[in-house]
Amino acid sequence: MKIWLDGQLFEKDDAKISVFDHGLLYGDGVFEGIRVYSRKIFQSRAHLDRLFYSADKIRLKIPYTREELLAAMYECVEANDITNGYCRLVVTRGAGNLGLNPFICKKASTFVIMDQLRMYTDEMYENGMAVIIAKSVRRPAANVLDPSIKSLNYLNNIMAKIECVDAGVLEVLMRNDRGDICEASGDNVFLVKNGVVKTPPPDACILLGVTRGVVLHLARREGLPVEETQIAPQDVLEADECFLTGTGAEVIAVTKVDDKTIGDGKVGPITRQLLTAFRAFVHTDEEVPYGS
Ligand code: PMP
Repeated sequence: MKIWLDGQLFEKDDAKISVFDHGLLYGDGVFEGIRVYSRKIFQSRAHLDRLFYSADKIRLKIPYTREELLAAMYECVEANDITNGYCRLVVTRGAGNLGLNPFICKKASTFVIMDQLRMYTDEMYENGMAVIIAKSVRRPAANVLDPSIKSLNYLNNIMAKIECVDAGVLEVLMRNDRGDICEASGDNVFLVKNGVVKTPPPDACILLGVTRGVVLHLARREGLPVEETQIAPQDVLEADECFLTGTGAEVIAVTKVDDKTIGDGKVGPITRQLLTAFRAFVHTDEEVPYGS
């Protein structure tokens, strides 16, 4: 496997970052997880927009242009001969000293890892998955650790992940400081009630998922009524359908939350319609603007 690191391709074992890098010491950095479909970087514009948004929010200067980062990703697609896969684009604060001050770090480190990805089985896409609602961890408010920033600080999500691993399921829905359901540990959440597709709004303490944007676009295009609205835990339990969206997960039905079966316990018709639309969409060139 070839890794692109600061302008050069390295073998996996030779791609190295300083132990003084603040990305490692403090989770100080930003990243993107991006799909490659049919040798194309999926929604590259939206992902790069979000990367630069995140970097800007933490006052991190990315030492490359969008075009250079896109070229780096394509270099990795070629070098690793990836047709369908997953790309991790990371910009760390760079090497500094043991203090917190980010501005003494002279130069950000940028790297691209390209890999194969199979997050869930075909059986799960066919029959849906079980999740829990996190009991002890909440998503932080924007003035604590802004979830709209895709930073390297994922401990909040990891703590929720530990809860769901302990419960024997693969994902976990999280609540925000208001108590509403906001997103999963690594995915956005949608539900369907009486034919209306609902998902929490941008100010609900969520990462604005690129897949979320695509699915909202597809839902509107399919003529489905869509609402970005607050979702209480009870709304999820009483939903007709529930599904998650994410770069890795794509669109996957949730058929059980805690001990409650959702709808009739099968993948619902609207979830199926959106998964089908999504799977067709990924092989087109259409780009959905970030944040739409
Ligand atoms: N929420 C969180 C917390 C995430 O980490 C992710 C990305 N894995 C998502 C939502 C989904 O975002 P995207 O569709 O851009 O992958």
